[in-house]
Amino acid sequence: MAKNVLDLATVRNIGIMAHIDAGKTTTTERILYYTGVTHKVGEVHDGAATMDWMKEEQSRGITITSAATTTHWDDYTINIIDTPGHVDFTVEVERSLRVLDGAVAVFDAKEGVEPQSEQVWRQADRYGVPRVCFVNKMDKIGAEFQRCVDQFRERLGANAMPVQLNIGAESDFQGVIDLVRMKAYVWSAEAKLGEMYETTEIPESHVEAAREAREQFIEALADADDEIMELYLEGQEPTVEQIVPAIRRATIAGTAVPVLCGTSFKNKGVQPLLDAITAYLPSPMDVEAIEGHDPKDESEETRLSRQPSTEEPMSALIFKIMSDPHLGKLTYVRIYSGVLKTGSQVLNGVKGRKERIGKIYRMHSNKREEIAEAGAGDIVAVMGLKDTTTGDSLCDPSAPIVLESMTFPAPVIQVA
Ligand code: GDP
Repeated sequence: MAKNVLDLATVRNIGIMAHIDAGKTTTTERILYYTGVTHKVGEVHDGAATMDWMKEEQSRGITITSAATTTHWDDYTINIIDTPGHVDFTVEVERSLRVLDGAVAVFDAKEGVEPQSEQVWRQADRYGVPRVCFVNKMDKIGAEFQRCVDQFRERLGANAMPVQLNIGAESDFQGVIDLVRMKAYVWSAEAKLGEMYETTEIPESHVEAAREAREQFIEALADADDEIMELYLEGQEPTVEQIVPAIRRATIAGTAVPVLCGTSFKNKGVQPLLDAITAYLPSPMDVEAIEGHDPKDESEETRLSRQPSTEEPMSALIFKIMSDPHLGKLTYVRIYSGVLKTGSQVLNGVKGRKERIGKIYRMHSNKREEIAEAGAGDIVAVMGLKDTTTGDSLCDPSAPIVLESMTFPAPVIQVA
């Protein structure tokens, strides 16, 4: 059985948040479809996997049914944590915000900022969750990218920074220009699900507009990042190798929010969105050490912390308990430090009881994968826990800790 302790730098734990109807479900499904279809085995496309996905899509559609779903893009592992969008689930929203490191905020290109998206945005602000915005439904009548960007600034107070310029809108939505690389993605008339796009030269008709948008983008990035500001003041044009880490630093520090657009309906724009998730959103290493207290200390005044490293004693937070039709009770945990192993004994610091870890699963949208162990920064489902409830934390019995379950540490920047 695979061990499966991942390299932390290649993990992205993300949520997808939106006002109801903005397209959260469709966008999530497209991400899963896209990553499932195009997941490469070595350098070769896995034809059999593609076929499986085609059948799957036809038979039942691809939907998220678990609290966290794992997928892959390039060399990255992306754990998508289900983030309820409804106001009634505020506590659940907060709990899910607690275990993710970054989020994609999906908006309807016609409706712009809607009340629920505003509320979830404020919660994410409170928890310091770095975000990228995806302006969905660019094909819809009344869709307007720039108006949405203006609303992010005015109504959400975000330093919204478009990293793309749309080519057309509504039924004439033809593609996007990547302002970082100054290349275009132009969709084929009948884009197929999962189709990969190569970038092309910017169409002649959009060269001037792209140049202007690029200037504004660099100015916004200079405002958000000192290194780019220095280059800007020296009159130097930053390179792609300087821009990408600068966007990442600004996103993690919360000084800028990259904005992209597309339509999840036809899968147009999902590929650049996936690239933005891996390039700009933080890995578990980019967030501060998790804090907690000694379970024996009822005043909770002792401060303990655990670094996001497999070298540290194990600590993990339970964020959801679900009943799986095949497996029964499944406990979803975010591991903050150390390694969680099948068969090991752990301490539930809140309940003051020891429990044994049963089977550990990585939940994919079309299959579950049993793994022997999982490491810091990861999100997995565990069987066999009897006396645990949501919000409890698990730890190595020789290094007891109760993790804080409701405060989110401010992200720190650790970009090479
Ligand atoms: P959720 O409530 O945010 O999960 O939204 P859904 O993903 O269920 O989408 C709501 C509705 O919008 C559904 O009828 C979708 O088919 C439709 N929809 C989703 N994405 C797009 C898009 O890019 N363009 C258009 N025109 N409709 C979309």
